[in-house]
Amino acid sequence: MCAIRRLPEVVACRIAAGEVVERPASVVKELIENALDAGARRIAVTLAQGGIGRIGVEDDGCGMEPEDLPLALARHATSKLADDDLLRIATLGFRGEALAAIAAAARIALTSRPRGAPCAYRIEAWGGRLGEVEPVAAPEGTRVEVRDLFLHLPARRKFLKAPRTEAQAAVLAVKRFLPTWPEVAFRLEVEGAVRLDLKSATDPCDPARLVPLFGEEAVAAMVPVEEEREGLRLVGRIGLPTLNRPHARDQQLYVNRRPVQDRLLKGALKAAYGDLLPRDRHPLALLMLELPLEEVDVNVHPQKSEVRFRDGQRVRGFLIAALRRALPSRARVSVQRLEPTAFADACAPSGSDWREAQGPAAAAPPAGLFEAASGFAGADPDPHPEQPPPGPLGRARALLFETYILAEAEEGMVLVDQHAAHERIVYERLKAELAAGGVARQALLLPVVVELEAERVETLLAARQELLSLGLSVDGFGEGAVVVREVPLLLAGAGVAWREVLEALAEELAAHGRARSLEARLYAVLSTLACHGSVRAGRRLSLAEMDALLRLLERTPGAGQCNHGRPTYVTLKKRDLERMFGRR
Ligand code: ADP
Ligand code: MG
Repeated sequence: MCAIRRLPEVVACRIAAGEVVERPASVVKELIENALDAGARRIAVTLAQGGIGRIGVEDDGCGMEPEDLPLALARHATSKLADDDLLRIATLGFRGEALAAIAAAARIALTSRPRGAPCAYRIEAWGGRLGEVEPVAAPEGTRVEVRDLFLHLPARRKFLKAPRTEAQAAVLAVKRFLPTWPEVAFRLEVEGAVRLDLKSATDPCDPARLVPLFGEEAVAAMVPVEEEREGLRLVGRIGLPTLNRPHARDQQLYVNRRPVQDRLLKGALKAAYGDLLPRDRHPLALLMLELPLEEVDVNVHPQKSEVRFRDGQRVRGFLIAALRRALPSRARVSVQRLEPTAFADACAPSGSDWREAQGPAAAAPPAGLFEAASGFAGADPDPHPEQPPPGPLGRARALLFETYILAEAEEGMVLVDQHAAHERIVYERLKAELAAGGVARQALLLPVVVELEAERVETLLAARQELLSLGLSVDGFGEGAVVVREVPLLLAGAGVAWREVLEALAEELAAHGRARSLEARLYAVLSTLACHGSVRAGRRLSLAEMDALLRLLERTPGAGQCNHGRPTYVTLKKRDLERMFGRR
């Protein structure tokens, strides 16, 4: 080892710059933040060669005095921490290192004219060397040009992706500012083509601001969130559970107008959707959280993309409550022309009020295989001449493709996926039983022996108590096997393939067992049970059975989607049918 020495300024700058400037998108983000901090009402961004060749950001903000231009490019120089107070940061910038970092990584030129000043001044910097400040003609405000990113740092340049990919990331960096800064007009030009040209707006959730971020179809299937309590305020849009993704990239999160990647916000979102979504799917969301400046530390990450809350628990509780309230208890489904309907509003959530839903079935012993599982026991297989008035999901008319129930409702037609719907009903019912003290069990006439790998047997037996509360009694049965003697009453006669269920459960428990809370584990098991215990596509239901299923569905919380997040039903309004056929 050699003696310790201070690094030359140029090297120190490059090291620091590496944290701030990763790719064109990070430059774009920093420059827009500066423009916003300068009070801009119009911001224009241009990108060439994906921003690697050239990035230009022009604003009509307060501008800089000529003597401030060299200072703006110096490290740790900022005009934003007036009283050196890191506890109440009201601006997007405060670290005073973005421009210095960019200057260390690329060629940069600042042109600025303060409001009311007779002319503009310009400075250039390249490879850590500053040029002269010179007067030029330019409008009020500031223009920053960045060229040849990482040209003299080949090691970093290698990490850049193709210009198209870099452009995409940079475009997203611009779009992320749209909802939080509605009062600012944004223009974006990529490789000479105008990609955005937005006037200022008043509402952060103005569709013009959201569509570029999420796409038109997704925006139509999002519901508003708005909540304010004790200094905390949440505004935004969240996707209906049926609108979900295998990744969390469509979650745009902000804290005090700052785009963030935040575990607490993501966690609250996940918790609020709970079992409306399977664990590996993610909802779409735009969440803009505002809270007093002193309750959040923004000085956590060089790119300012992470924050720390002073009272995380309080924030989490607030978010979950707000999000749950925003989520419709019966998510409305919107698939292209199939529009959200008033059905959802028409049926209030009914919790565990099964008795009414089942009618005579509640008292009667499970009659047939299928009936026991579904609670259809009271349904007469033949259609009644005088039927009771149908609920909002209408009266069943036919079964299509042995999978979809076609129903006629007052407002239009409804298509119900019988398996998905039934699964949701069984699941919610099991959940209600569990909440009321445990799932009712029934002994199997013939116990089922399931052979499994020793490890799986162990997993199942370790969860014996849990499974019992879910209505499953599982015991060891010699080496490499378990025996199932009791099963949930609800599924007892349903012709469930218990062998498959046990295998799926062992898999499920082995995969996530320890990592999850008891509640989450129980629900996961219930979900597996419900899926196996539900009527499969392909089974022919009578019209009366279908009607019974529809009535149950109307009373089931979260009935708009099955446990896998697929819709249980879609609707087509009568009005739209008439339009399609030119009757209107
Ligand atoms: P920070 O934003 O953390 O202060 P920067 O390196 O990004 O650090 O900017 C340094 C300073 O340059 C800012 O504090 C501000 O005074 C000035 N500045 C940068 N961009 C602009 C702009 N677009 N308009 C007016 N002033 C700017
Ligand atoms: Mg800045």
